[in-house]
Amino acid sequence: MEEALSFELSEEQELLRNEVRRFAEERIRPGLEERERNHAFPSEILSEMGELGLLGMLVGERFGGAGLDTLGYVVAVEEISRVCPSVGVTMSVTNSVCAWPIYRFGSNELRQRFLPALCSGEMLGGFGLTEPGSGSDAAALRTLAERDGETWVLNGEKTWITNAGVAGTYVIMAKTDPGAGSRGISAFVVPADAPGLTIGTPESKMGLKASRTAPLILEGCRVGVANLLGAPGEGFKIALATLDHSRLGIAAQAVGIHQRALELAVDYARERVQFGVPIAEHQAIRFQIAQMATELEAARALTRYAALREAHSDGGRLASEAKLYASEAANRACYAALQIHGGNGFADEYEISRLYRDVRVTTIYEGTSEMQRLVTARHLLRG
Ligand SMILES: Cc1cc2nc3c(=O)[nH]c(=O)nc-3n(C[C@H](O)[C@H](O)[C@H](O)COP(=O)(O)OP(=O)(O)OC[C@H]3O[C@@H](n4cnc5c(N)ncnc54)[C@H](O)[C@@H]3O)c2cc1C
Repeated sequence: MEEALSFELSEEQELLRNEVRRFAEERIRPGLEERERNHAFPSEILSEMGELGLLGMLVGERFGGAGLDTLGYVVAVEEISRVCPSVGVTMSVTNSVCAWPIYRFGSNELRQRFLPALCSGEMLGGFGLTEPGSGSDAAALRTLAERDGETWVLNGEKTWITNAGVAGTYVIMAKTDPGAGSRGISAFVVPADAPGLTIGTPESKMGLKASRTAPLILEGCRVGVANLLGAPGEGFKIALATLDHSRLGIAAQAVGIHQRALELAVDYARERVQFGVPIAEHQAIRFQIAQMATELEAARALTRYAALREAHSDGGRLASEAKLYASEAANRACYAALQIHGGNGFADEYEISRLYRDVRVTTIYEGTSEMQRLVTARHLLRG
């Protein structure tokens, strides 16, 4: 019989949630809008997060991590993203798509070389799967890795790479056997200072402006044979397993944004008076707020349930469903919260206008909503 899963946070997880919320309010909130306006990357804040154990949350203590479970992780990402989705994505990428696959699939040598620095915040991490010609169809990637004695030589281009230029290391997927389809893809740990790796022009984005996104250009980029993650040909499997896990972080990011949108809508509806009463008295506004609150509880519950089920056979499907539901619900919530703000919602000085831009990408990155639906359908229809 399977053990019962509890949605309730343990005392420790509740403590973590309170501490992360306090850190986000005291250390991230001040200066946040200015950093977003200036596209200023918050390096100092991320170093502090490393010291607090928020960057290697899922890595075992012997490699410098906090050794937490995935539920604790999603709780922390939610609280950081409630205040700053830019810091939320920087954090979740370092934890989930860089440190996590190195911890899970790396040799002890790779783990010793990279994890202590990633966990302590000495370096941030990145993940390079997407290319100009391959996004949803990730197996169509064209970056090549060829063996040359004791090194691998990588040639190609990765686009839309979160933390490109600020990360100290990247997990990068490349073809080692171009004739073998997805079984010809391998994963490499590529340090930022590897010869032949350069960073392209950072993207100018509609949201998450204080996070960094840029192309990675690999021109004769050399790494040692020890930098292969897993065995040759296992890269696609590693990428899919990593995304199954990391989608929980994006679901949590969406829940955090949703929570904040609800708070802002409630506050504004109580203050703004039209037709002689606070707009909160109008049923049309009340219903929107009730809908946002209901969908928030559903999104949070599904995200936490999926985190608890991560190691089970339905873990991947639940992570996709949580990411799909939470990101779509958070987009609806930000739309409604902005509508409740009326014209002020369209003004830069109101927080909801930034959230409205930040939330948009949650239905796109780490697999679009359409790809999440495909994952669920494949599980249910077995094909
Ligand atoms: C801010 C940001 C940060 C990112 N960070 C990273 C990162 O760190 N590392 C990384 O590797 N990538 C990253 N990405 C890339 C991201 O994962 C891709 O943008 C995403 O997977 C979609 O790929 P695409 O943009 O090429 O869209 P496409 O795959 O071209 O899709 C275009 C549209 O077609 C739809 N579509 C495609 N195929 C199908 C189908 N079979 N059925 C139905 N609909 C379909 C899609 O859902 C989408 O709506 C980031 C993207 C952004 C915007």
